[in-house]
Amino acid sequence: MSEINLKKIFIAGSTGSIGRAAAEVALKYPDKLKVNAISAGHYSEILLEQAIKLTPEYCFIPDKNEALNARINFKKNSVNAAVFYEDKDLKEIIESDGIDIVLNSISGSSGLLASYYTILAGKDIALANKESLVTAGDILIKLSKKTNSKIIPVDSEHSAIFQCLSCGLKKDLKKLILTASGGPFLNTEYEKLSSVTKEMALNHPKWKMGEKITIDSSTLANKGLEIIEAHYLFGVEENAIDVVVHPQAVIHSMVEFHDGTILAQLADADMKGPIGYALSYPERLNGLMNSIDIAKIGSLQFFEPDLQKFPFILLARNALKIKKSMPCVFSEANEFFVKKFLEGNINFTEIAEKVKEVMERHIPFEIDNIGDVLEAKRIAKEIADDIGP
Ligand code: MN
Repeated sequence: MSEINLKKIFIAGSTGSIGRAAAEVALKYPDKLKVNAISAGHYSEILLEQAIKLTPEYCFIPDKNEALNARINFKKNSVNAAVFYEDKDLKEIIESDGIDIVLNSISGSSGLLASYYTILAGKDIALANKESLVTAGDILIKLSKKTNSKIIPVDSEHSAIFQCLSCGLKKDLKKLILTASGGPFLNTEYEKLSSVTKEMALNHPKWKMGEKITIDSSTLANKGLEIIEAHYLFGVEENAIDVVVHPQAVIHSMVEFHDGTILAQLADADMKGPIGYALSYPERLNGLMNSIDIAKIGSLQFFEPDLQKFPFILLARNALKIKKSMPCVFSEANEFFVKKFLEGNINFTEIAEKVKEVMERHIPFEIDNIGDVLEAKRIAKEIADDIGP
């Protein structure tokens, strides 16, 4: 295989659940994918192990002490990756010839900077960090058109839609149908939700993911974020994005065209699928996932989500209808209170109640640049702090 077909990758957020899966995919297809840079929030044994196995040229850690610590440990273990920590270094790594595509698998709103630099540099981005588009969608989409940066979704639902859309024309699209597995509390009575513990919420029936997104999946805030993400990625209005609960999580989402045809994408519930597809797009990696045995699965179910039990879907829809700074404030407030829940300071149903309160108190303003996004985040935190605990 010639060097020309080898895609050089930067895995941003390499030690998280998506980042680790991406590293596995890259190691399985060494003639197609080469990881040339990795990044993480701090130094860890996992990061060292990745640096040894993936032999990247660069490693980025956005904290000086952690980066210096990594330098020492890399040296001890004869790892050659150069470690950087300043924002301008992140920008330079992304711009360098050593990188063709950035997989942004950073968790939460701190992932915005990597998305911004990637799109600014006109590099392709495999986007797993949904907060990037939710908080700065208009800016990033506009910029991507200017720089010719391709945004390829890694979120399983959006990957499904992206794949289904290749079978039709945008002008013939009627609606997007996002599937939701329903999370661990699909059949829990509303009255019992307030006593849900952290351990119960972290036990997702279908997907193994990081803590933040697992809580978001249990509250359906994740589906709310995905509605907003889908709006920006595919340019579809809020009222043409449906959500349907599909507990088997075999169909990862669907699109409906004007002629009445619905197309669906089916695959094993394995994030290596959307990760590998985004990294190798438009090619497909042979043997990436296990085949699913549809005869064995037997039947698929679909039903309407319970919007009273899971108010996050309506909150997200409201944020998207208002737009301006509201989607950003919605996302930031959610991140704030998910943390409070994980710390044991608020109960499960309070997450949505408090996010709603933040949104009610926020006066939306136009988002024209990254500075406005940072300001919206700051205001969201300020209101959230005031609401407490
Ligand atoms: Mn998803």
